[in-house]
This record gives sequence, structure tokens and C-alpha cells, in this order.
Amino acid sequence: MFKVLADVGTDAAIEYARKHPSDFLAQLREFLRIPSISTRKEHDGDVRRAAEWLAQNMREAGLENVKLFPTMGHPIVYGDWLHAADAPTVLFYGHYDVQPADDLDLWKTPPFEPDIRKESIYARGCSDDKGQVLLLVKAVESFLQGAGSLPVNVKFMIEGEEETGGENIAKFIPEKLELLSADVAYVADTAFADYNRPAIVYGLRGMAAINIDIEGPRLDLHSGSYGGAINNPINALTHIIAKLKDEDGRVLIPGFYDNVEPLSERERTLLNENEIDIDNWRAWTGAPELWGEPDFSLQERLGARPTLDVNGIIGGYTGEGSKTIIPSKAHAKITMRLVPQQDPQQVMQNLIDYVTELAPASVTLKFEPSHTAPASINDLDHPAMKAAAAACKEIFGRSPLYKREGGSIPIVGQMQRDLGVETILLGFGLPHDRIHAPNERFHLPNFYNGIETVVHFLANYAELG
Ligand SMILES: [Zn+2]
Repeated sequence: MFKVLADVGTDAAIEYARKHPSDFLAQLREFLRIPSISTRKEHDGDVRRAAEWLAQNMREAGLENVKLFPTMGHPIVYGDWLHAADAPTVLFYGHYDVQPADDLDLWKTPPFEPDIRKESIYARGCSDDKGQVLLLVKAVESFLQGAGSLPVNVKFMIEGEEETGGENIAKFIPEKLELLSADVAYVADTAFADYNRPAIVYGLRGMAAINIDIEGPRLDLHSGSYGGAINNPINALTHIIAKLKDEDGRVLIPGFYDNVEPLSERERTLLNENEIDIDNWRAWTGAPELWGEPDFSLQERLGARPTLDVNGIIGGYTGEGSKTIIPSKAHAKITMRLVPQQDPQQVMQNLIDYVTELAPASVTLKFEPSHTAPASINDLDHPAMKAAAAACKEIFGRSPLYKREGGSIPIVGQMQRDLGVETILLGFGLPHDRIHAPNERFHLPNFYNGIETVVHFLANYAELG
């Protein structure tokens, strides 16, 4: 079977995109004006309005079967175009909900009245993730309206609960395996390393979170009358916590590293190409010294190594002055960031077993496992990965950096498991877009260049995939 590669319509699509920047910008402004804050009940109507606005925009772009799938929470916007026979299918994912905008006083211009200063647009959700969602739609529109067709099949799955945990899309995917079936997924919800420095995230850490409650006496006791004879739950808890990690950050839970695969030379080389200005980094964090496993570089520690952190300790008297008690309870919140091949449930069980073994008989323990998410890693040699890298080169004049991200995007792991697809994480934000913070911005050249990059990505993938 032959494909007429020269005529997939890329030139016509690019020409269309270059003819319509002011329309695209006007649409972006409209989208940003809707305060779709998913976590606030009083904005439920706005979240719905954003979903409907997006669906309508997708229809006008030429997408078909556009509809809102209701969930227990906010709807999922779906649309597709499936007329590229014998060509692969790309599933686009993003989110139309946004973070709350507080503190309003810190915004230079109101968060839902988009303002353009220099080369950036300022508004809540512009970089995370409405601007990025819209650029995906505009890339598809450029093909459909400019060239009359797409070189590949596309599906969109855009959710409205990413900022509140995405619980409903996690249920949606396994129920809609056929509808969502694809050859690769594309997520635009990440950032460049710097201006003109595209970066593809190919690995994401997973997560296991747990709360530990320790109880000693049934009530707070006088530390003079009982001290020395009744164990103090806070002391017991801190003894246990001290044994979870060594001074260099190596986790001491038996079995923790059992399934952690060593980093290949290729990966180490790729990861360490991400230059980090250590002085800058130190200044920005304010920490007096960098810290971590000595055998691993900063880049490796940040995304490719598993960690354990105590996120909070609660217990005892913390008010003014002193109160001489042996408190009856102590609590700790612990999260572990995991790498591929570590099973979050197994890791959680290992922690429970180890802490149980460490705890003295003088206290009782209660575990409250919280959420888990598996890590994910995507194939660097996947044809879509090559298509994306080539598109970056075409538009930004250089190959992308490859990164493993320390945070979690659970849906990437889920799409890999449930749909069997690799994900290309090539977003167009910048590191200092202030996502989730006041004065969020999106660099407009990245909006327009992002559209063209996705156009080239789709054309390249038709050829390579
Ligand atoms: Zn986001």
C-alpha cells in the first residue's frame, strides 16, 4: 500500500494556521474568560460552560461526533475525525478546568480578563491547560479547514477534573476502551525547558500516600507524673520515621528498591543533557545545600529515582508557652514517589510491614492508605516519539530534550495499562508560566508555534507510524 507522502496537506495546513492567528487568539481569550474552577461548587455552571464552549469550538474546527460525556462530576469532552484509512490514530488528552485564582490581590490584571503584555497572555488557565488544549484543536482545524483532511485519525478526550484529581476520567477510560482505542496518545500539559528549548517528558513518577496514626495512653498525661514510664507517641513516631531513610536519602524499607531497574547509559546521557544551573536552583529553592543520593546526578534524582517524604507531622501541644504532657496521639503523612516497575500497593505494604516491625509494643498503630498511582515510562523509539522530535526540529530548529518528571500524571500510566498506548508528552508551556499561581501566563509565540509543531507532528507520524 502506497501513501502519497508529499501530499498530506501540511503546507495547506500551515498556510491556514498562518492566516488565522487573530481568530485563534480571539478564541483563546473567550475560552479563558470562562472561570472553570473545578474545585469550587459555585463554579459548576462555568465548568459546564467551558465544556460546551470547547465542544462547539471543536465542531467548528471540523471534528465529528463531538459530545459531552457526563460523569459523576464534570463532563468529558470527546470528538474525533476518523477518515484517514490505513493511517494510525492519535488520542489527544488535556483539561479545560483550572485552578482557583486566589489570591486575587496579587494579580496585576483580573484572572478571567485575559491581558496581553509583551509576548504573553495573562489569565488563569492560559498555560495550564486551556491554551495548550486549544492549540491542539487549532492544529487539527488547520488540516481540516486548510487541506480538507487529516493525515492521521484523531480523537480528543478533554476532561474537566484534572485539577481535582481526575477520579471520573479514571473510571471513564476502562468503560470506553473501544471509543478511545488509538495507536498513541498525545498530552500537551507540560513545559519547555526554556524559550525555544522544547522538551519531551518520557517518564513520570508514580505515587503511594499513607497516613500513620500512633496512639499511646488513652488521654494526654502529666509528663511529670507519668514521664519515663509511659511511651510518648510522638517520640515513638519520630524514632520510626528516622529509620525510614538514611542521611543521604536512601530509603531503608526492605524491598523498596527490588524492582527498580538501573538507569541505562543512554538514559543517563539524555537526562544529563538537561542543563540545570545549580546556583540558580539553590537560590530559587533557598535550601543552603543540594542533597540526595550521591551516586545520582540532580537530574536523575529529580525524576528517575524513587523517594520517600514525610509531608506532615501532627501531635501534642503546639500552642503558646509550654504544656507538660505526654500526648496520647501522633500522626504522620507520608508519600513515596515511585519509578516504573515499582508496584505502589506492594511498596505501601512493605512500608506497613516495616513500620509495624519497628513500632514498640508500648504504642498502637493504625494505617490509613491514601491514593496510589503507578509510574509510567514511554518508549523513546516509538515512531510517534520520532515524529514529535522531528516536528520540534522543524519549528524550533533543535531537537527536544528528554526528561523524566518528578511529579505524577496518573492518566499517562492508565492509558498505557488500559488502552495499551504510549504517550507523547510534548507541551508548550514555559518553566516560569506561574501555573497554579497568580499572574499565570502563556508565551504566545509558543501558542502559534505549538499549532505548527502539532501540524508537523501529525504529518510526520502519518509517514513514520
Ligand atoms: Zn494541567
